[in-house]
Amino acid sequence: MVNNGKSFEQPPTPDGSLVRRTSRDERRAQPASHDHLTGLPNRASFMNNLWRALACANSERRMIAVLFMDLDDFKVINDTFGHARGDALLAQIGQRLAAAARTDDTVARFGGDEFVALAGEAAEVSEVMCLAERFLDRLRQPFVLNGHAVSLTASIGVSLSTPGHSWPNELLREADVALYQAKAAGKARVALYEPAMADHASQGAEWGSDLGRAVERNELQLFYQPEVDLRTGAIHGMEALIRWRHPHHGIISPTEFISLAEHTGLVVPISRWVIDTACHQAARWQALRPDGPPPVMGVNLSARQFQHPDVVEQIARVLHLTGLAPSALRLEITESVLMKQGDVDIRTLQQLRDLGVRLAIDDFGTGYSSLTYLQHFTVDTIKIDQSFVRELVSSDKTVIIVRAIIMLAHDLGMDVVAEGIETAAQLERLRDLGCDRGQGYYFWKPLGEDELGEILSARAPDAALSVRD
Ligand code: C2E
Ligand code: MG
Ligand code: MG
Repeated sequence: MVNNGKSFEQPPTPDGSLVRRTSRDERRAQPASHDHLTGLPNRASFMNNLWRALACANSERRMIAVLFMDLDDFKVINDTFGHARGDALLAQIGQRLAAAARTDDTVARFGGDEFVALAGEAAEVSEVMCLAERFLDRLRQPFVLNGHAVSLTASIGVSLSTPGHSWPNELLREADVALYQAKAAGKARVALYEPAMADHASQGAEWGSDLGRAVERNELQLFYQPEVDLRTGAIHGMEALIRWRHPHHGIISPTEFISLAEHTGLVVPISRWVIDTACHQAARWQALRPDGPPPVMGVNLSARQFQHPDVVEQIARVLHLTGLAPSALRLEITESVLMKQGDVDIRTLQQLRDLGVRLAIDDFGTGYSSLTYLQHFTVDTIKIDQSFVRELVSSDKTVIIVRAIIMLAHDLGMDVVAEGIETAAQLERLRDLGCDRGQGYYFWKPLGEDELGEILSARAPDAALSVRD
């Protein structure tokens, strides 16, 4: 996405008009400065404004900011409701963004599901970040589309001008780099451009070839985070989380390389390695509990892996090879991956279920309109995203949402795991709400296999943690 061929237009001619190579007919057909769908200024008009605002700010040695916004997973809306309704939603989004802006700000539609804002008065970075958060907040409030309540999220990249030194194209490109980081860090967030991000982006190319060799060079490693029964405190299972030990850059987190692996296709061999390694490990830990239920191993499945024709066969093979009980393996699929799939993948889900493995929806609540489509997927577990857990203690609304998710999941026969529990207060709230299990730094960070192995062998299967201390 960085430097993805987006052209940020040419500077205006001396009379201020933009040089655009459009035919006369095309010019007559297009509204000169506004986007027909949203009524907002269009890209050309925005660029014009940006040139003017920047010239002014540079001469007055003031700062301005560009906020580059991309709606998260908007394709899902178009696929689900059709393009006409997607367009109607874009028009509503445009209105909300314009209403959230201040008098001196300009909001424009850049194209597709991209919007851009120019903060004309950016005396403080905090003001600009507040504006960005306000945009995100307005989008989170549900929209009504075809009688359905639809909520969505966006990611925003922010760049700030350096008085006297910035060019419009440079500002936009920096905001785009920051936007890429916001997406890579999990979407639904704001990222402020830092020069290191540009290094990071170019690092992607370098890492691509290194990653190709990571499996054969044995540089990948799994850590395991225990999942705790919130009622008894017993360890119910663990989630396998991958790390890459890069020979020069040290330990690299999956959020930094999984999307790269997806783009390059390397995620297929990497996921195969993850499934094999995690299942072998789970089989060893299963042997520690010969009489009790085996600990359940959670393995994350990426979009690409999930679509791979061999996935069912591969899992069947590894279960057979290791003797792992199928019910001791749980595949975690993020909500957004599930939402992007069609019927074919529901069949894959069904085949996986037929093997007897468990399925979980990961990062639940970060996609859109999550509750209604649960009826289409038969899964065992819902993992509530840590963004909800983080706000449980401070926001009554979050409590209401989490309570509803837990009740609904239970009514549908699913159990609920909370992700990212960090404090006793969050744990207390989750127990009160009837959440079944949880994982988080409050209990344990992801551990090496030896460390978790020692904990598992030292504890009776039903040994309780003192979860109320
Ligand atoms: P996830 O599956 O939702 O995993 C939970 C993430 O939350 C992990 O980050 C974990 O270390 C982190 N976490 C756990 N407890 C806490 C807490 O109390 N506070 C905070 N702030 N974080 C906590 P990690 O290991 O960086 O993994 C990030 C994501 O990368 C995972 O999210 C998963 O989507 C993906 N991932 C990890 N391993 C694999 C893998 O083997 N294959 C694939 N395809 N994706 C993976
Ligand atoms: Mg997971
Ligand atoms: Mg998660």
